[in-house]
Amino acid sequence: MKVLFIYPNINTQVGFNYGLAFISAMLKKHGHDTKLLNLNEKLRKIPSDEEIVKYVHDYSPGLIGMSVVTPQYPTALRVARLIKKNFSDIPLLIGGVHTTLVPDEVMKESCFDYACTGEGEEAVLALATRIERGEDTSTIDNIWARTNGTVKQNNVRSFVDLSNLPMKDYELFDLQHMIDKEDGWVRLMGSRGCPFRCSYCFNHKIVDRYKNDLSTSDIGYIRRHNLKEVVDEINYLLRTYRGIKTFIFDDDIFTFDKKFLREFCAEYPRLTNVPFVVNGHVRAFDEERAEMLKEGGCSIVKFGLESGSARIRKDVLRRPMSNEEIIRAFNAADKYGLHTSAFVMIGLPYETREDIMATIELLGRIRPGRFRWAIFFPFPRTDAYEMSVKGGYLDFKKMRELENFTEASCLDFGPEHNLFISKLQKTLPWYVNSYSDNSVGNIYSFLTRAIEDMPPERWEEAKDGIISVDGELSQCLNKAGCKHYSFRYNSFTAVRSDWEHAKGE
Ligand code: SF4
Repeated sequence: MKVLFIYPNINTQVGFNYGLAFISAMLKKHGHDTKLLNLNEKLRKIPSDEEIVKYVHDYSPGLIGMSVVTPQYPTALRVARLIKKNFSDIPLLIGGVHTTLVPDEVMKESCFDYACTGEGEEAVLALATRIERGEDTSTIDNIWARTNGTVKQNNVRSFVDLSNLPMKDYELFDLQHMIDKEDGWVRLMGSRGCPFRCSYCFNHKIVDRYKNDLSTSDIGYIRRHNLKEVVDEINYLLRTYRGIKTFIFDDDIFTFDKKFLREFCAEYPRLTNVPFVVNGHVRAFDEERAEMLKEGGCSIVKFGLESGSARIRKDVLRRPMSNEEIIRAFNAADKYGLHTSAFVMIGLPYETREDIMATIELLGRIRPGRFRWAIFFPFPRTDAYEMSVKGGYLDFKKMRELENFTEASCLDFGPEHNLFISKLQKTLPWYVNSYSDNSVGNIYSFLTRAIEDMPPERWEEAKDGIISVDGELSQCLNKAGCKHYSFRYNSFTAVRSDWEHAKGE
């Protein structure tokens, strides 16, 4: 059977969807044919409705599937309605994290015939096979199915054994085009699952759902590919694609399994000298791991800090780590010459201005090589979502309309704090720079005071010019040899100037 996937990833970064790549590989292994309509303006012009209809008509699939996180859902719904209107006989399936969190909400939309909750490799294969054979599709674990006007809600099945899966179908995504567009960055993932239960992350809700449906607490959520599988995949990518400059591992916590880390870092330099990037966790990071990573060829280790306020981390985010642990982890990475990246969020429920200043202060204290920031987005039914609702913060209309986590908040804190968050989103590097010594600190303190004094109308006029002011100022400071952060790559990443120069960027 021909299966068409649609990935509605608009107004955001180029993305790679691991779920679709695995499902496609599984389908192809069992004789099906797959194709992807990847909607992302950075890769290709977004097709018009007529072009989408023609695309579907020309391929003529027996099943259409989409995979979405919450901000992608509005586009998915619009495209799904368009397709259903024109091809009422083609079954339409939706999956991904959003669907797993709120399958009942999704299935209220009559355009969707099936919803995949949880992992899709085995479930979508079973669905495609049964549709092709004309068999009953209402009893497939993980798949909610609309039959005769009612929705059959099936339980989840056990997690897949990663070693039984074929390698991801990179071709589905036209990976060479993505590599060319992404300056040589290629994404990989060697494991699934995370031992933590942060309130804003969907992991804890997925775990609860599986525990409930499988009636056991031993659900085997955390799994990893063995070293040979990871090595084979890297070799395949190096053999098949040109221009790879960096591998980026999207494993939730790459540094968690110390034994694997040791084996991987010993093996990697025998494969290639292409640098790699990993996610660490300050509670799973020390000097020993930093040394392994450095010797293995790691260039950047990323840490999610989320907030510099211990109160917010503990009470709102349920993210157990102290500022001392954070500082220790960054010192360990610095000692072995690893470039560090910190990730923070602003606009959290119950967050005060003092809490935000604590985040800025922490960034000023640890001085990561780069930092990225997002505006808090509450994934439906997570604990942080419930907190946002309970605190009266959530603007449901805005939430439905948001397409990414970087430009605006769907929480309402009142006009004054909303304005502060809007200003901060555009100028966070300036605030962090104001914690620098001497003249650099003074320049940026002056600028942030001027920004804070701006009334809303003046800010509306000024905000789109911030990045160009930042660029000009950064050039002057570079000439004067003054270290500072400035915007790099996009409007939510800042890189420390001495690292940029060291790398010749
Ligand atoms: S550590 Fe990261 S992946 Fe794990 S639960 Fe927290 S946010 Fe999710």
